[in-house]
Amino acid sequence: MELEKIFRSYDVRGNYPQEIDENVAYLFGKAFGTLYPDKKIVVGWDARLSSPSLKDNLVKGLVESGIEVTDIGMVPTPVIYFACYKLGYEMGIMVTGSHLTKEFNGFKVCNFKGIPIGYETGLNKIKETIKKGKFSEGKGKLNKRDIKKEYINFIKSFGSNFNETKVVVDATNGSAGKIYSQALKEKGAEVIELYCEPNGNFPNHIPDPMNKEFIVDLKKEVKEKGADLGFGFDSDGDRLNIVDGKGNLINTNHIFSLLIEDKLKNEKGKVIHDVLCSKLVDDVTKENGGTPIIWKVGHTYIANKCLEERAVIAGEVSGHYFFKETSYADDVLIACMRILSIMKEEGKNLSELTSKYPKYYSYSDRVYIKEEEKFKFIESLKKKFEEKSYDLITLDGVRVNFNNGWALFRPSNTEAKISIGAESSEKEEFEKIKDLVDEVIKEIPK
Ligand SMILES: [Zn+2]
Repeated sequence: MELEKIFRSYDVRGNYPQEIDENVAYLFGKAFGTLYPDKKIVVGWDARLSSPSLKDNLVKGLVESGIEVTDIGMVPTPVIYFACYKLGYEMGIMVTGSHLTKEFNGFKVCNFKGIPIGYETGLNKIKETIKKGKFSEGKGKLNKRDIKKEYINFIKSFGSNFNETKVVVDATNGSAGKIYSQALKEKGAEVIELYCEPNGNFPNHIPDPMNKEFIVDLKKEVKEKGADLGFGFDSDGDRLNIVDGKGNLINTNHIFSLLIEDKLKNEKGKVIHDVLCSKLVDDVTKENGGTPIIWKVGHTYIANKCLEERAVIAGEVSGHYFFKETSYADDVLIACMRILSIMKEEGKNLSELTSKYPKYYSYSDRVYIKEEEKFKFIESLKKKFEEKSYDLITLDGVRVNFNNGWALFRPSNTEAKISIGAESSEKEEFEKIKDLVDEVIKEIPK
C-alpha cells in the first residue's frame, strides 16, 4: 500500500492495481465508516474497468463498519454532488480516475453540500485511520437507487429551449455521455453522440478534453455534421472544453467570461477564479459590476473559497465551473445549458459571442525541473522577487503582477515540472514580462 503517494491535496488517486487495489478500497470504506458513523452515504463510480470491483469493496468496507450506503450506479461526478446538495445525502464518494488515463483510479469525496473534501479537510484523517487499523464494526445496509432522472430534471431548469440547435457530445467513452446527451435532447437540441458508450479502455482518445489529441475528433465531427458547437467532457464529466461551429476550440477564459456576464446580469457579487485565469476574467467581472477574487488551482480549493466568500460563480482554466445554485458544487452540464441559452437569447453563434473579447499577448509552458528542487526553487524565486519589491500573489506558486498583466511560476503537484504563464494587454509590457520569464527559465535546475 502506498498511502502517502495516493492521498493527495484534492482526492485519492493512483495506478491500479499497483497503488490502489480492492484491499485499499475496502480499508478506505472501513476507515470512512469509522470516522463518519452516523452519515447517510452515497456512492457512485465511473466507466473505468477497475471501478465496479473497487466500488464493491468500498461498499463492503462501509457496510461492515455499520454504515447505510446508497449505490447510485455509474454516473458522472456532478451527480454525486447533486445527491448531496439536493437529495439529502450527507456525504458522497465517487470512484473515479477523473481525466487520467485508464491505468488510474481513485476516490473523490464530498460533504452534504457537494463540496469536495480535500486532504486537510478529511482525507488525512481517513489515511491515519487506515494506518492505525482500528475500525468500528456494525451491520450496515446497501441500497440501490437511480437518480439520473431527478438530476436531469434539475439541470434542465438552467436552460431555455434548444430547438434547431445541433450539438456534438464527445464524452470520451466515460460515464457522462448518455446522461448529458439525454438532458440536452430533452431541451430540444439535436445531439450527435460521439464516444458516448461507456468503455473503460477509452479506445478513442485520452479522456481529458484539455488535451490536444482529444479535441481533434470533436473538431472534425462538428464540421462534418454542420453542428452549432461541440462539447468535450472528461471521463467523469466534470471538465468541459468547447468547439465552435467552425471547429475552432474556444479558450476556456472566454467560456468563463460569457458565464460571468450572464450571471452578473441578474445578480452582482463575487467571482472566484484560479491563478491561471486570464486578465480577461478579471476585466469582464469588473466591467459587469462584480468583484473578482483570485484563488488556488484545484476544485477543492475553489469550491471551499466560494462557500467562504458567498460567491455567485467560479471557474478554473481547466474547465470546471461552480454555481451558487448548486451550493458551489462544480457542474459543467449547467455551463452547457447556459452557453446554449446565451446563444439563443442573443441570436448569435459562439464565435460571434466571443469575438468581442480582446486578444491579449500571452505565453504558457510547462518546464522540466529536478523534482527535489521544485519547491525550493519556487521559494527562492519568491524571496528574489520580494527583494525587488514586486507586487506578488503567493497563494499558489508565485504570481508577479504588472500594470496590465502578470507572470506566474507554479510547481506542478503531479510532475517534475513548473507551469509558467505570462500575459499582458500591452505589447511593450508583455515583452518586459517575457524577458523576466526567460531569465527565470535559464535559472531552473534541470
Ligand atoms: Zn474529472
